[in-house]
Amino acid sequence: MPELPEVQTIVNDLNKKVAGRRITGVWFDWPKMLKDPLDQQRNKISHKHAAVFEKAIKGKKILSVRRRAKNLLFYLSNNLMMLIHLKMTGHLLVGKWKVESKKIIPLEPKEVVEDPYNQYIHLIFYLDNRKMLGFSDLRKFGKIILGTKEQIENLPELKNLGPEPLDKSFKFIKFVKLIKLEKRKIKQVLMDQEVIAGIGNIYSDDILWKAKIHPLKPANKLSEKELKGIWIAIHKVLEKALKLRGTSTSDYRDTAGKEGGYTDYRLVYQREGEPCQRCKTKIRRVKIGERSAHFCPKCQKL
Ligand SMILES: [Zn+2]
Repeated sequence: MPELPEVQTIVNDLNKKVAGRRITGVWFDWPKMLKDPLDQQRNKISHKHAAVFEKAIKGKKILSVRRRAKNLLFYLSNNLMMLIHLKMTGHLLVGKWKVESKKIIPLEPKEVVEDPYNQYIHLIFYLDNRKMLGFSDLRKFGKIILGTKEQIENLPELKNLGPEPLDKSFKFIKFVKLIKLEKRKIKQVLMDQEVIAGIGNIYSDDILWKAKIHPLKPANKLSEKELKGIWIAIHKVLEKALKLRGTSTSDYRDTAGKEGGYTDYRLVYQREGEPCQRCKTKIRRVKIGERSAHFCPKCQKL
């Protein structure tokens, strides 16, 4: 699932490529992706809502795009706002496609045409400069919510989020306060969007390896020194991943359809059986809920 570095890379790209453009039309073949902001359950999606969406988005100008946690927020004209969550396999591409009786033919750019991971287009926004913004999503878990700015800002998925880890106003002392309250395992706490926003499976693994902390260690058992190590690792790992435009161990691609550069720089994530970059011990994988944690059993003692 795209995390802070991947979503921020897409947001940065979109501000260069689509901000200031007007949406002239929309095509989609998976209306379930379109959620009604007023339906808090968001499970009984109707074709009626899809029609409302289509009508409301047409003609609107994209003013800017921002990120909050793993959500993309499109600020639109007429006080409208659109939230996009990429979920497991979603990514946004800027290019050109031709729709021929339900068949999507990619025309440009090169990676969008050639990379099989970019071939799951279920929605296209047509823009006023003849370019298009496409949503590729193999698993079809991605969601789009369009509403007024107030409706979107008040959605529980935005209101209940924890602080942004790279935000200058988020200080170490606040981080300590948040983590100290938690009896859960540190890996789970780092991935909890309501504690701290934007970190998921990839970067929590790498952060804990860098800080030499075992992923299953209870958060409230961590010393101030250990917390400082995690705090520093959060910044180092996320900033490096941002600089390298994210990780493409799975479906993530940038808006040109290109893979992220952090994939080759991963410290432990999905490196089970490979030697630890510090001590050469084989990296191990352990189950944690429905997820896995990757760690070095020698460097990261419980
Ligand atoms: Zn090691």
